[in-house]
Formats: sequence, C-alpha cells, structure tokens
Amino acid sequence: MPDCLFCKIAAGEIPSKKVYSDEKVYAFHDIAPKAPTHVLIIPRKHIGKLADAREGDAAGIGEVVTRAAAIARELGLEHYRLVANNGEGAGQSVFHLHFHLLGGRPLAWPPG
Ligand code: AMP
Repeated sequence: MPDCLFCKIAAGEIPSKKVYSDEKVYAFHDIAPKAPTHVLIIPRKHIGKLADAREGDAAGIGEVVTRAAAIARELGLEHYRLVANNGEGAGQSVFHLHFHLLGGRPLAWPPG
C-alpha cells in the first residue's frame, strides 16, 4: 500500500530494528517503547486494522500471532501482553495491522 509506514518498513524502505522476518511476517522494535520489551509484529499484507480482516486473512493473522508467541519465547518472556489497538479511539495511530508484544515489567489490568 503506497504511503503506508509499516508496508515501507517491512519492505526495507524505511529502517527498523528487525526482530524477525519471513515472506509473510515482519517484526521490529517499537521506536518509542512502552515496556523494556516492545516489539511490533505485522503481516506483510496490508490490512488497515483488525476490523478489516476477512475470512481469507485468518491463516495469515494466525501466523502473526503464533510468531509473536515464538518471539516472546526467544526473548525469554514468560509474562507478556499481545495487543492490537483497533481504531483511533483505541489508540491506533498507524493503520497497518500490528500486534504489540509488551513485556519485561508488571502490566496492569485493565489497560487505560
Ligand atoms: P498504534 O498506536 O497501536 O497504532 O501503534 C503504532 C506504534 O508504532 C507506536 O507504538 C509507535 O511508537 C510505533 N512506531 C511509529 N513509527 C515507528 C517507526 N518508524 N519504527 C518503529 N515503530 C514505530
């Protein structure tokens, strides 16, 4: 998708601190971390937000979530949170579906 920040990051057109990459999934460190570990895991396919996902996206999104769990394991995280903000009112600021992997500190519930 032209002019999508995360499409450009996944394509290597904008630099990022890569954590994982394959043909369908890309993961990188958040530029403004909200926890000692803050990784963003995205599908390479442009999906604007979770609400835009359709049945055909199920396998791809499943791979993203499964990869997030693998990354958490590799980073030694036992307790962590995986979050997708959906829509501006929920805090979404980049409109390419992404999951935040947050860990390394106590995480309060419910979130604000
Ligand atoms: P959200 O607010 O849920 O849409 O999350 C977007 C996240 O992207 C925020 O946590 C930002 O700090 C992060 N972010 C924005 N630009 C970049 C960038 N160039 N590299 C890495 N993370 C970024």
